[in-house]
Amino acid sequence: MQYNYSFEAASLLFMLLIFVHFMVVWQFPTEKTRVFRALLIVCIGESAFNILSSIGLANAGVVPQIVNEILAFVFFSFEGLSSLMIYKYMVVISELDQRQKKRAVSAAMIPAAFFFIFLLLTPFIGFYYYFQDGVYHQGRGANFGYFYIMLFFALNLVMSIARRKIINVREKYIIYFYTAAALIAIWVQYYHREILLTSLGNSVIVIMIYLSMQNPNDYLDTVTGIGNEAALELQLKDELMRDQEGTIIIIRIRQYQQMGMLFGAENCNMLMAELGQYFFHLGGKFHVFRSDADTFVVMTDKDRYQEMVKSVEGRFSEEWKIEENHILLDHTVMIMHYPKDFTTIPEFFGIKSYLLSVASGNVGKEPVIETDEQMIEGYYRQNQIEMILECALRERSIQVYYQPIYSLKEKRIVSLEALARLFDGELGYIPPAEFIPIAEKNGDIIRIGEIVLEECCKFLSKHVLSNMSLGIRSIQINISVAQCMQQNLKEAILPILQKYHIPTSMIVLELTESTAINAPALMEHHMKELGDAGISFAMDDYGTGNANCSYLMRFPFQEVKMDRDMTLAYFNNETARIVIENEIRTMQKLGIPMVVEGVEKLEQSEEMERLGVEYIQGYYYGKPLPEMECLRYIRNFNSAPEDYGR
Ligand code: C2E
Ligand code: CA
Ligand code: CA
Repeated sequence: MQYNYSFEAASLLFMLLIFVHFMVVWQFPTEKTRVFRALLIVCIGESAFNILSSIGLANAGVVPQIVNEILAFVFFSFEGLSSLMIYKYMVVISELDQRQKKRAVSAAMIPAAFFFIFLLLTPFIGFYYYFQDGVYHQGRGANFGYFYIMLFFALNLVMSIARRKIINVREKYIIYFYTAAALIAIWVQYYHREILLTSLGNSVIVIMIYLSMQNPNDYLDTVTGIGNEAALELQLKDELMRDQEGTIIIIRIRQYQQMGMLFGAENCNMLMAELGQYFFHLGGKFHVFRSDADTFVVMTDKDRYQEMVKSVEGRFSEEWKIEENHILLDHTVMIMHYPKDFTTIPEFFGIKSYLLSVASGNVGKEPVIETDEQMIEGYYRQNQIEMILECALRERSIQVYYQPIYSLKEKRIVSLEALARLFDGELGYIPPAEFIPIAEKNGDIIRIGEIVLEECCKFLSKHVLSNMSLGIRSIQINISVAQCMQQNLKEAILPILQKYHIPTSMIVLELTESTAINAPALMEHHMKELGDAGISFAMDDYGTGNANCSYLMRFPFQEVKMDRDMTLAYFNNETARIVIENEIRTMQKLGIPMVVEGVEKLEQSEEMERLGVEYIQGYYYGKPLPEMECLRYIRNFNSAPEDYGR
C-alpha cells in the first residue's frame, strides 16, 4: 500500500512548533504542565515514527525488514501511550484527591496492560500487524487498537461529566470538541487506511489544550512579567495536591492607590515592575506572583522564609525611586504556612483577606504579621459568625435593643438609640463590633438595616405612639456606609415608616464620618431627600476621624454624637480635655446639640453638664435593653429621675 502522510507531516510540524514555544515561554511547573509536556513528547514521537515507518514500508526493497519491524513497534508503543497521556491530563484537570486519582489511573492500567501485552506478543503472533516477505499486513487484532483509543475517549467523557462541577465550561467544551474531532479522524482513518491521520487528531488535541488550558499568557502579570493570581492559584493548588509543605509571604504596598494619584499610572507601573524584579530575584522563577495590584506573594520553604523576610525588611527600610522621587514604601508583610494554616485554595484566599483586614487595622504597628493559632481561630470565628448571621437574617432572629438618651436640661430620658443584637446557641452574645464589619463586607448590612428599621417602627407604633406620656420623642438608627451607597435609600426607608404610620420627625438617622469620606455626593443627596421628608440626622462617632468640622459645614446635621473613646480620653488626658472642651464650645456656637456617649459615672455626667452638653448616652443613664425591659426602665426612670437608683 502506498501511504499518504501529508496530514501526518503537517501535524508533526504544528506539534513541533508548540513544543518549541512551550520550552521557550515560562510555564509554571505544575503537575498539569508536566503531564502536558509528556503528552506533547509522546504525540510527537507517535507522529514521527508513523511517518518514518510509512517511508520504510514504501521503500521495503531497500530497508531491511527488521528496521521496519522496529519502526512499527515503536510507533505502536507511542500510540498506546498517547491515549493514556490524554487521559492522564484529564485526570489532572479533574482535581481528584490522591485516592481518587490512584483509582482513576489504575482503572486505565487494565486496558493499557492488555494493549502492551498484545504489542509485546505481536512480533511472535502477529496480533496488530505482521510482515510477510518484507510487506506489512494488519493483524487480526488491528481493530483492538481502534477499540483501545475509543475506550479512552469514552473514559475522558465520563470523567468530564462526573467532574463537571470542577472542570470549567471552557475546558468542558474543549473536551467535547476534541473528542469529536479525534473520533472523526479515527473514523476516516478506519475506511482510508492509506491516508495517515492518527496525528491529526492528536495535534488538534494538543493545540486546543495549549491555547486554552496551558496558555502561558493566562498566568503572567503584564506589568511586572511575573506570575499573576491565576498562576499563584495554580502553583499553590499543585503544592497542596501533592501534600507539600511551604510558606507564603505576602507583601502589600499600602500607599499603592495614593501613588497612582500622585505619580500617575505609568510611573506607578514602572515602580511595580521594579518591585516585581526585586521579588523575582529574591524568590526565584515560578515562586513570585503579583496577586492584587498592590500585593506581591512569594512562595518559599519553611526554613528559608525568615531570612527572606529579613531581607525584604532590609530593602524596604531603604528608598525606592519613582519618577525623580525617592520614597519609602509603607508596606505590610504577612506570613502563612501550609498545610498548617490552610489545605485548600478557598481557605488560602479567606485567610489572606482576613490577614489583610487585620493588617489594615494595624497601621503604625508591627509591619510583619505571621499567622498563629489565635489568628487562625479568629479567621474561623469570623467564618462562623458569617454563617450565624446569614441564618439569623433568614430567620429574622436579629434583635434590636434600645439604649436611653438622657436630656441634661429636662432631666429625663427623651430618646433611644436602636442597636442590633445577635445571639447564638454556641457562641452566645456576639457584639456588633464583630458582626457589623463582617456584614458591611459581605453586604448583609443592608438586610440588617431593613430589619432594625422595621423592628423600630413596630416598637414605636405599638408602645410609643400610643403612649406619649412615656416622653420618647425620637429614635436614633445607625446607617452604615454600604446602606448609604444605595441609590434608593429613600425608597428603602419611607415606605416602612408609612406602613407603621410613624411620623418622619421621630426618626434620627446616624451617619458616620467614614460615610462622609467614602460617599460624600450620595450622602448629600440622601440627606437632602430624606431631610425634605422630615427625617433628621446625627453625626455619629464624632472625634474618631479627622476634619470633623468641615463635614458639619457641608452636611446638614441636627445633632452630633461624641464617641465613647473621646469621652474616655477627656477624662484621662489633659490635652484631649482641652481639645474636646473646645469642640463642645464650637458646637454650642453653631447651635448643634451634642450627645456624649460612654458616660458611666455621676461625676462624668456632672462634668458634661458643666460644659453645657445637652444629652448623655451612657451606662450611667441606662444600658441597651430589649424593648419590654427598656419600656419598664424608662417608665420607672422618668417617674422619679432624681432618686432613680443608679
Ligand atoms: P455606636 O453607634 O457608637 O453605638 C454606641 C455603642 O456604645 C453601643 O455599642 C453601646 O452599647 C455602647 N455604649 C453606650 N454607652 C456606653 C457606656 O457607657 N459604656 C460602654 N462601655 N459602652 C457604651 P454596641 O451596641 O456594642 O454597638 C457597637 C457599634 O455597632 C455601634 O456603635 C454601631 O456603630 C454598630 N451598630 C450597632 N447596631 C447597629 C445597626 O443596627 N446598624 C449599624 N449600621 N451599625 C450598628
Ligand atoms: Ca450610633
Ligand atoms: Ca457612636
